[in-house]
Amino acid sequence: MPAQKTEAIVIRTYPLRDAHKIITFYTPDFGRVKAVAYGVKSPKSKLSGRLELLNHGMLLFNYRENRDLQSLSGFELIEGFDGIRDDFTRITYGCYLAELVDAIASEGDANPEIFHLLQNTYHVLTDIEDVAMLARFFEIKFLDLAGYAPQLSHCANCGSNVTSPYLKNKQGTAGMLFSVQQGGILCNNCQNRDTSAYSITPGSCELLKALRHLKLAELDKINRIRASTLNHRELKLVLSSFIRYHTERNLKSLKFIESVLPSV
Ligand SMILES: [Zn+2]
Repeated sequence: MPAQKTEAIVIRTYPLRDAHKIITFYTPDFGRVKAVAYGVKSPKSKLSGRLELLNHGMLLFNYRENRDLQSLSGFELIEGFDGIRDDFTRITYGCYLAELVDAIASEGDANPEIFHLLQNTYHVLTDIEDVAMLARFFEIKFLDLAGYAPQLSHCANCGSNVTSPYLKNKQGTAGMLFSVQQGGILCNNCQNRDTSAYSITPGSCELLKALRHLKLAELDKINRIRASTLNHRELKLVLSSFIRYHTERNLKSLKFIESVLPSV
């Protein structure tokens, strides 16, 4: 196969013996690409220092279909997102987004929109104030693009329109029922379809819709979104449960965020 050249972001690095590493990239044209970087930990390597997690660059490799590991021939750095690296909260979230993409994306599946979402989110992550809200934006957009969009306007079970006035849930308080198993909100008639559904405030449901409709060019608007502590908590709970359900695993970096950054 001829050599391929594509933009790429490093989403995972895994050390091997003898100064080698396995690098996982996310690319617009080939989806996830895994390759061995031979001798990369040696200071003499021409790739030394370029293949750090989150780095965005131009990847050169020999593509072979149905191969788990591709052959890496070069990586020219475009952007290192130093603003993320210099801040503990930002780098922690940056690693989480990379792990999320690695957990859901597949090899050979071209999805330029996911690449641009990741690239733009990292740009904004370098200096945005509300880092947690940016992560929620990324999660819902990414779920949409990966084909796991939660249903937010219609009942996930029967498809009926779920609008205001908001339904009374089982606990007798005004709220919306969000079912991870059913794939979104439930209407009054379908409340019993999932006894483990979460009750969230109508405001949190509206925020989810607003984040989903936000365009990449409007990411600066995230700083203007008003959200209460309860909204933050509900969005995080619903989206992380949804992600856990679809990835069938607990993401290590999300657990890390919960243990070291409990307030966001
Ligand atoms: Zn229904």
